[in-house]
Amino acid sequence: MFTLPSLPYAYGALEPYIDLMTMEIHHNKHHQGYVNKLNTALADYPEWQNKTLPELLTSFDKLPQTIVTAVRNNGGGDFNHTMFWTLMKKDGGGVPKGKVGEAIKKQFSTFEAFQNEFNMTAKTVFGSGWAWLVIDKKGDLIVMPTANQDCPITDGFQPIMGLDVWEHAYYLKYQNKRPDYISAWWHVINWEQVEENYHNIIG
Ligand code: MN
Repeated sequence: MFTLPSLPYAYGALEPYIDLMTMEIHHNKHHQGYVNKLNTALADYPEWQNKTLPELLTSFDKLPQTIVTAVRNNGGGDFNHTMFWTLMKKDGGGVPKGKVGEAIKKQFSTFEAFQNEFNMTAKTVFGSGWAWLVIDKKGDLIVMPTANQDCPITDGFQPIMGLDVWEHAYYLKYQNKRPDYISAWWHVINWEQVEENYHNIIG
């Protein structure tokens, strides 16, 4: 059975950029909902219950046809949110240092150019989805969107950073102003975690 991971900080820790009530509902209702529905989808298929989320999210051709959509949506929802919580912290922000900072500059020429591309991707996701910084099969960094709860892992990309742009992630505080939420998010980004994610894939 999959379980909801604890947040590594208090619900109010990201104030004023991300408000306490949004964090509480997002974690305790939305993420919990994905976990519950994933467990329900797998309930009749014990042979799939001990797989990891990356295994499930790259097995759509092998999973029972009747649960592929539920696993895509809810397994993706669980994976994406589990990563997302760790990508934020109190007193985050600034610019990335270390190897990921170097790799971003190498790929996008400047941190600002990367940030602009990431912002544009996040702003232009139509409807619900995510903006990601991923590592492709060649080891290069790219910025990409996904729709709904689709996870980059399904398409062979390794996510190291992602921003949830579903309305449930920002509507209570920012209403229709997604760009304001995106701007605020850079104040809570946890670059040490992005660096760790990068190391875990690149070495
Ligand atoms: Mn969400």
